[in-house]
Amino acid sequence: MTETLFSKIINKEIPADIVYEDDLCLAFKDINPQAPLHVLIIPKKPIPRIVDAEQSDQELLGHLLLKAGEIAKQEGYENAFRLNINNGEGAGQTVFHLHVHLLAGRNFIWPPG
Ligand code: 5GP
Repeated sequence: MTETLFSKIINKEIPADIVYEDDLCLAFKDINPQAPLHVLIIPKKPIPRIVDAEQSDQELLGHLLLKAGEIAKQEGYENAFRLNINNGEGAGQTVFHLHVHLLAGRNFIWPPG
């Protein structure tokens, strides 16, 4: 796939406020936060969209969710946070490297806009 901005963040070619990193994933603050806590959790493997993930990515996808929960807890929001994945332009995806949005610290409406 074409290299995205997030590949550059993984490779430390452009800076980001990193809150967690391991061999499989990176989590960093969103540059345009939509809540007091807005972190993006991304796989280091460049999967463009969730729909592009394969069976062999099952463990990796679970890892992203587990880390999202751990980060929410670590930041003091274990009882109220939202996880969001936008898939495709029609759903608002702008960076085509899979990412889980972790949002917390404000009230959320349902259904989401
Ligand atoms: P999407 O709209 O694809 O679901 O989310 C992409 C997110 O990436 C947006 O919330 C946007 O603010 C964030 N973003 C775009 N460029 C950068 C950047 O250079 N650094 C960081 N930290 N976040 C970015």
